[in-house]
Amino acid sequence: MHLRAFVLSILSAPTALAAVNEPCYGSGGVAGVCITTTDCTTAGGTTINGACPADASTVKCCSKTSCANGASGNCRWTSDCAGTTVSNQCPGPSQMKCCSSSATGFGGYSAPTIPAVGGCQAVAVNGASALVAAWPGRIREIFCTRACSCPGTSDHCCGKAIDFMCSDGGGVPTISGQEIAEWVMNNRATLNVKYVIWGQRIWNPTIDSVMAWTSWRAMEDRGDITQNHWDHVHVSFN
Ligand SMILES: [Zn+2]
Repeated sequence: MHLRAFVLSILSAPTALAAVNEPCYGSGGVAGVCITTTDCTTAGGTTINGACPADASTVKCCSKTSCANGASGNCRWTSDCAGTTVSNQCPGPSQMKCCSSSATGFGGYSAPTIPAVGGCQAVAVNGASALVAAWPGRIREIFCTRACSCPGTSDHCCGKAIDFMCSDGGGVPTISGQEIAEWVMNNRATLNVKYVIWGQRIWNPTIDSVMAWTSWRAMEDRGDITQNHWDHVHVSFN
């Protein structure tokens, strides 16, 4: 391989990490979606740089804070809209809709069932109880154990990881999880946290210093909303 071709292959490598159509945080932390700048402009949105860092340079975080659904109409992920929604006014996939409400609309869920200690280890059960108490209405469902042998490829195999589902359904995107994930980081000692994942980023207390989620280490694109942790916060416990 010629040097120039080699350099080009290195430079183009990040495109393999693209997560187009997935959430991002627009200017001021509003709901956004990673799409091409062309598609954003066509939809009347506003782009910000650096908020879809794993994507190609033509893909940026696109938000639209003014749309035609009441005086405060703005584009949100449907999970994050407490008001009524109108389709076909927003950038990105169909789950980005024009929301009538200026309220965040995060959560509003009944208290989820906390797993019993057993297959799910006490440290994880205690962590789940503490998190749900700290974030009432924000967690819809909890998953702990998974049908795999321990030790395995996931801490779920050993009952030492919890998935905190924080959108309206599996595979449904939200931006609700960021502050929850940062709360986990800030309470790492009490919770005995091994690592936490939200929004395609990971934080591990043995490797990383305390910092905003936006600076956490980016993960590879695993291909969908759930695998990229845009519908749940994953916490592994020691
Ligand atoms: Zn998990």
